Amino acid sequence: MSEHILIVDDSKTVRNLVAFIMKREGYRVTTAEDGMDGLEKLFGASDPIDLIISDVNMPRMDGFTFIKQVREQGAYTDLPIMVLSTEGRPEDIDQGMKLGANLYMVKPAQPEKMVQNIKMLFGKK
Ligand SMILES: [Mg+2]
Repeated sequence: MSEHILIVDDSKTVRNLVAFIMKREGYRVTTAEDGMDGLEKLFGASDPIDLIISDVNMPRMDGFTFIKQVREQGAYTDLPIMVLSTEGRPEDIDQGMKLGANLYMVKPAQPEKMVQNIKMLFGKK
C-alpha cells in the first residue's frame, strides 16, 4: 500500500491543492484544519500516518505547537515532517527545524519541488 500523508493547513484551498498533488503521485491523504485536528487525526488514525505536511499559521493550534506535540510523543520521533508556510524568515525556519521538522518549504512552493522533497523524506530519490 502507498504511503499515507497527513496534510495540516487551515486554508481549504491549500489543503485541496496539496492533497491533489500528493494523490496524483499515488500517495494516500488525510487532511486536518489546524494543529488540534492534526493531532486527533494522527493519534486516531487506524491507518498509520507516514509523513506530515504542516502549515504554521493556524487557529486553535499553530504548526510549531503541533510539531512540538508530535515530537513529544515517543511513537512519532521518526515521523518525517515537512513545514509548508508563508513564514519564510530565517528565524521561523530555524524554529521549525529546532522543534523537529525535517524540512521547511516556503509558500508558494513548486509542486515538482514539493514532490521531490517528499520522495527524499521517504528515502526514495
Ligand atoms: Mg495558515
